[in-house]
Amino acid sequence: MAMVANPALKRFVAQMRDELVMAQVLIRRNGAGYELRQLADRGLAPESLRLVKAGDARTLAQHTATGVFRPLKSAPTLQNGWRISASSDGELELALNQLYPGAIADWAAAQTVNPPVTNYREFTQRQSGMYRITTMLDDAQAAQVIRAGCDQQFCLKRRLWTVAGLEPDDMAAKSLIPCLEPCAVLMELARKAVRIGQEEKAGLVMKLAGESKSE
Ligand code: SF4
Repeated sequence: MAMVANPALKRFVAQMRDELVMAQVLIRRNGAGYELRQLADRGLAPESLRLVKAGDARTLAQHTATGVFRPLKSAPTLQNGWRISASSDGELELALNQLYPGAIADWAAAQTVNPPVTNYREFTQRQSGMYRITTMLDDAQAAQVIRAGCDQQFCLKRRLWTVAGLEPDDMAAKSLIPCLEPCAVLMELARKAVRIGQEEKAGLVMKLAGESKSE
């Protein structure tokens, strides 16, 4: 059966020179294939790094070096001490899709004239169920939540989507992996921010009600 070429992958490898840094992963061309390792291990001898199969890259992405689960695969907490030898473009894609799910497709989408970006308002208005209340944050509150949740100390994806009054992320501060719409982790943070605001308001109302009765 003929292999179906992935246009996004084709474009990704075509723009790559000898090496490329994708968030915390250093990708180096190695003959017809590639070597991947944690950027912090750049100067280490290959023999000193544990060889991991491209198909097993998920085991590196799931937990930090101390065994803490990583809900956000783009968090700057990728463990080091390993290397992957990818023998083909397909193996490179296999490994990257486990380390940074969807990164190649999103990178290619962000290169188009009109990247498919969904901003906070549009995204939250589409939500139903528990995330519906995220529409209740005003622009300044939403910006505060986004600044905190998407900060480079928590996530290396470059946020292209916005809310009124907030600029997209600068690539220099993040990475070449774009973020095209709010993620589940950010949505949960926004939901909690609404809940805390509601609880604070309810507490204030109770306090005022108590004060008016005692007057
Ligand atoms: S929404 Fe923010 S935290 Fe989530 S992936 Fe995008 S940039 Fe990262």
